[in-house]
Amino acid sequence: MIPDYLAEALGDVASDTSGAPADYIPELATADPDLLGAAFATVDGEVYGAGDLDVELTIQSISKPFVYALALADRGFDAVLAKVGVEPSGEAFNEISLERGSGRPLNPMINAGAITTHSLAGSQELDAGARLERVVAGLSAFAGRRLEIDDGVCASELENAHRNLAIAHMLRSHGILDEDPTAAVAGYTRQCSLLVTVRDLALMAATLANRGVNPRTGERVVPERAVRQVLSVMSTCGMYDAAGDWATQVGIPAKSGVAGGLIGALPGQIGIATYSPRLDSHGTSVRGVSLFERFSSDMGMHLMEVP
Ligand code: GLN
Repeated sequence: MIPDYLAEALGDVASDTSGAPADYIPELATADPDLLGAAFATVDGEVYGAGDLDVELTIQSISKPFVYALALADRGFDAVLAKVGVEPSGEAFNEISLERGSGRPLNPMINAGAITTHSLAGSQELDAGARLERVVAGLSAFAGRRLEIDDGVCASELENAHRNLAIAHMLRSHGILDEDPTAAVAGYTRQCSLLVTVRDLALMAATLANRGVNPRTGERVVPERAVRQVLSVMSTCGMYDAAGDWATQVGIPAKSGVAGGLIGALPGQIGIATYSPRLDSHGTSVRGVSLFERFSSDMGMHLMEVP
């Protein structure tokens, strides 16, 4: 039933070839633009899917809510909130935007905030290598399998990371980062280069929907209180400068990535993921947005709607 529904939904959006794969990371521009997949993972650990379910894509910005959760778990709320706010910026993901005066990034979903939360994962004593391992292990626990880094995509992004380096230098000058900005961007870029499938993404989202416990492995990945914080920030800031459109049209806490992945998490119910590489002007998958709009209206998933 559900796989048929998903296959039909994919068939309906397949003719939409608008948008284009990201090209500011040259390696991403080589993706097959016609790839298309969608999966649902329930809080009982069932996974249903259709289309290109096992093709690997880099996680990119979809890593941000999960690393925010790890930072909250590892350092505590006060330490994280002192360095990264929770206010929607209404700006693009790569905006060089820091709070006036303090220099604190407005939220953990834009790059400025995510470079900072990467630096806050793990305990303070960790060196950059051990911290990256904490991030890889943490995201792997959300997915329920060991994730690997795509070195080619990572190198391609690092060669062109001038904007993220500029952001990291700003963060360093304000004392928000207290380490070498180049090392912080290198770690953050590796985090973004982790390879996942649509199935992994649905399970990662389902772990958020399931109060921080992976529904397949039964592992508690982060505390329940961190999950509430993360889902709240996803619902207000996850879609950057399209957050308002998304909140009204779809109404599911969500996060997009420039490789074409998109996730949503419905608390207590399911994690949803889609993959299609062509992006709109916000850096979000065009067909992913259409699919989420359809899922939300077909199944009454909008959180502001009485079921
Ligand atoms: N690694 C990408 C960047 O920092 C992630 C952006 C995204 O997926 N929106 O630019």
